[in-house]
This record gives sequence, C-alpha cells and structure tokens, in this order.
Amino acid sequence: MATLQGRHFLQIPGPTNVPDRVLRAMDRPTIDHRGPEFQALATRVLAGIRTIFQTEQPVVIYPASGTGAWEAALVNTLSPGDRVLMFETGHFASLWKTLAEKLGLRPEFLEGDWRQGADPAAIEARLRADEAHEIKAVCIVHNETSTGCVSPIADVRKAIDAAGHPALYLVDTISSLASLDYRHDAWGVDVTVGGSQKGLMLPPGLSFNAISQKALAASKSAGLARAYWDWGEMLAINAKGFFPYTPATNLLFGLEAALEMLHEEGLERVFERHARHGEATRRAVRAWGLEVLCREPAHASGSLTAVMMPDGHDADGFRATVLQSFNMSLGNGLSKLAGRVFRIGHLGFFNDLSLIGTLAGVEMGLKAAGVPHEAGGVQAAMDVLAKRGEAPAASHAAE
Ligand code: PLP
Repeated sequence: MATLQGRHFLQIPGPTNVPDRVLRAMDRPTIDHRGPEFQALATRVLAGIRTIFQTEQPVVIYPASGTGAWEAALVNTLSPGDRVLMFETGHFASLWKTLAEKLGLRPEFLEGDWRQGADPAAIEARLRADEAHEIKAVCIVHNETSTGCVSPIADVRKAIDAAGHPALYLVDTISSLASLDYRHDAWGVDVTVGGSQKGLMLPPGLSFNAISQKALAASKSAGLARAYWDWGEMLAINAKGFFPYTPATNLLFGLEAALEMLHEEGLERVFERHARHGEATRRAVRAWGLEVLCREPAHASGSLTAVMMPDGHDADGFRATVLQSFNMSLGNGLSKLAGRVFRIGHLGFFNDLSLIGTLAGVEMGLKAAGVPHEAGGVQAAMDVLAKRGEAPAASHAAE
C-alpha cells in the first residue's frame, strides 16, 4: 500500500464512521450495570431512542447486531408454521427470509429484480387473495443495503389497510434509521428493526425493536420459542432503568452522544443532508457514464448508491485498486451482485467534503483500474452541492 497516511475513508454502507464526540463518550471506565449511574443512563437512552424511530411506543435495545433484532421481531410476534409475506428487494430481504425459514415460519417471497423497492400493489393483491388471513405478518426492508433501493413504507401500510388484512407489519430500518425519513407511529408499523452501526454513527453492537401495542398484544400469544430476545422480561425491567442481562454499557454512552448530535442537527436536516448526498452521488455516476443499480428514481436511496460496472470489468478488482491507491473502502456487491456492483456509502457522520473526497477517490480509481468512464463526475456532484452555498438571486437588489 503506497498511500496509508491520513484517515482511512470508510465509505461502505455501514458500519459507518464514528464521530470523535461519540468515541470520547464511550472512552470511559465501565460502570456497574446494576447501579444508579447506569439506571439514569438507561432511562435517558431508552426515552431518547424513541425520538429517532418517531414513536411514543417502547423501543427495546439489544446488545446484538441487526440480525438479532430481526430474529427478535419474528420470535416475539409469530408462531411455528405461520405464513409471512416478504418482498425480494435484495440480499438482506433474502437473509431475513432464510432466517424466518430456520425459525419454522413459512415465508412467501414476492419476487423482485433487486433494482427497485417493494411494490405496494403486489402486496395488496396477495393480501386480498388471502381471504382466510393465513398471512400473519408482512416484512419489508426499508432501505435495501445491497441495492440502494428504498421501499415505500407508508404506501405498503396503505396497501395492507386497503386489503382489509390484519397482518402485523414488520420493517427493517437497519440502513435507513437516522438517515432517511422514517415514522414508526405515523406509518402504522408494528415492529421496526434497527441497528447502531449506520445512521446512528455508532460501532456495531446494538440493535433495536420499536414495538406497537398490536405487536405487544401479539407477543402474549406468540408460540415461537424465545429466551434472550423475549420482550416481556426486557420491557418489565427496562421500566426500572435496567436490563435482564449485561447491557453494552459503553455503547449506550455512545448512543446518548449520537442522539444529542442528531437532535442538534435536527432530524429534518439529517434527512435532507442524506437526500442531497444521494442526489449528488447519482449525478456523479451518470456523468461518469455509469449506471445506478436502482432504476426507479423515486426509490433511490439517500444512504448509499450501488453502481453497476461496465461489462467485462470486475467491481472487486476496482475496489482493491481504490483501497490500495487511495486508502478508501467501498462496499462490495452481495450474493448475485458479487463483482457486478460496488456500493458507495454516504450515510452517518458525513458532509459535503467527505462526499467530494469519496467521489474523487472513485473517479481516480476508475482511471487507475482502467474502467471506461467519462471524467467530470466529481464536478457534477459539486454542482449539486454548491447550490446550497449560493446566495439567493438578486438578494442585494431587494435590500
Ligand atoms: N438488514 C439490513 C438492511 C442490513 O443492511 C444489515 C447489515 O448490513 C442487516 C439487516 C443485518 O445486520 P447485522 O449485519 O448487523 O446483523
């Protein structure tokens, strides 16, 4: 590696860069997780995290990666053999489906081409056909991290209601939480699954379930075996400011700092920032003459962009060149997209200049790796970003 100096650019779509303020908040001696200082911390973060899900309902915090929260959402609400309706948005939807199968559920996949989000009309049609209400839950990945396509979560809610179907609604927000607008209560979601390592700007290690009253009621009769993931015990002891087992204490200090940062910026501005960076990145990709994997413009993600490689060029070879030459990690193509796409993460602790540095690394990497492209992607992105700094037209004349 020739160029190791300076900070590594971690531009995978999560885990994301952790701000120094969060690192400093975690850099402290471990405290007694059964003592008063922990009780005060847990009470603060359990209340604070609700604001990020835009919910008044309880949010459970697991010391686990996102996969744990996926499993928790299913085992707390469903019974062996239950049918669940899922939509094939990409790799992560496929993994959630496999997990459901392993738990003894009967998931049904509505087929997708990995280039757009879930289709509410197809979901409504399938639910209307389920007159016996055998489907017990609809499970959707909000932001499919393998493709950079966003599913219309509010519209899927409307589709479930239009079909008059009582299924629970479970949504994975692991790569959209604190990056893309998401409203657990207003959008009528029953369980929202989240993770710490993306928009929340924390290291991996925490994951979440936001839980509606309907989901809570379902958990009382759900028949799947559960122990570690059991909401009942967790919520009872959370109400006193504690956990039923050893919590990830220092990550919770980090979470508190991350919540402060998100609220200081304001959630609306956080969402706008991600949307702008998504737009600027897509402009860059188009200027390079390359193709964005997500082909439905309304579904294009603000947290990452997956870029298709020209035929005959290997995305992993290109990523290796970028790492060696510019000390930057880009996301790889997952499962059937392996070698065919690379993913640019633009979520979390990120600003205009981090994006321009990232895109410059991509543009120089394309040249260094001999990937056919047009120059000018960085300039196209700068043109989008510079608009924010422009003085309003004729502002002086009006004074
Ligand atoms: N769902 C989505 C959308 C993800 O992006 C990921 C991981 O990147 C997961 C689920 C699985 O989470 P984890 O790897 O933290 O277990």
